[in-house]
Amino acid sequence: KANRTFHPENTVIRAGSETIGGNQLAIIAGPCSVESQEQIVGIAQEVKAAGAGFLRGGAFKPRSSPYSFQGMQQEGLELLKLAREATGLPIVTEIMSVKQLEDHHEDIDVIQIGARNMQNFDLLKAAGQIEKPILLKRGLSATIEELLMSAEYIMAGGNENVVLCERGIRTFETYTRNTLDLSAVLAIKRLSHLPVIVDPSHAAGLWWMVESLSKAAVAVGADGVIIEVHQDPSNAKCDGQQSIKPERFTALMQSLRAIAHIE
Ligand code: PEP
Ligand code: MN
Repeated sequence: KANRTFHPENTVIRAGSETIGGNQLAIIAGPCSVESQEQIVGIAQEVKAAGAGFLRGGAFKPRSSPYSFQGMQQEGLELLKLAREATGLPIVTEIMSVKQLEDHHEDIDVIQIGARNMQNFDLLKAAGQIEKPILLKRGLSATIEELLMSAEYIMAGGNENVVLCERGIRTFETYTRNTLDLSAVLAIKRLSHLPVIVDPSHAAGLWWMVESLSKAAVAVGADGVIIEVHQDPSNAKCDGQQSIKPERFTALMQSLRAIAHIE
């Protein structure tokens, strides 16, 4: 179902009044995690003013250490809903289990399945049973074929609203958090009709690379980007080193506008 051979035209996915795929760039921005009402509503207003189409923010966080901040959970989701009400931005947030999906899918506009769950087949099957758009991130060491097969799991269940995300893969290189595989965007576009976006924040792990990698992503034909933005990155509860401040996000949007169609 994800294969372009049987579906030559590009798929356009609708979420609220926004689209992903098609001729307009989808811009998803917000903090790694929801931390408070002031934080999430404040960032939502700033990224919206800069031109973002979607608000991201984690409520359920898949942290490598059980002792790290695990997200505000349900309370975080309530705060995301407030930020959506305040700005009109559709919300993109990760769910980590079938139970969370069942409990919360109606509240979320785009459901993120994170890199660590790309091959959680029960979760993929459950995501196939709903109609909400799914943002499926490439696994830490997943091949392009494996990513497409995971999309196939969701689509086989009947949910064809799948957006793929290249977010860097694990290589021998340690300077960056992951290695951004921009050729994956080209390969996926050739193999599949599904929209593909790039996450330069998790790929690089370094805030100062985010703007240039976003431009590179657009240059190779990505349908959008997902970017971590925080008012006070050095005190962020999660991923501060890769988060850019709202002012810098505004500048990034201006440089993306120079090379792509954004509303
Ligand atoms: C995230 O988007 O905050 C995240 C945890 O991403 P990934 O699954 O790509 O690591
Ligand atoms: Mn993050």
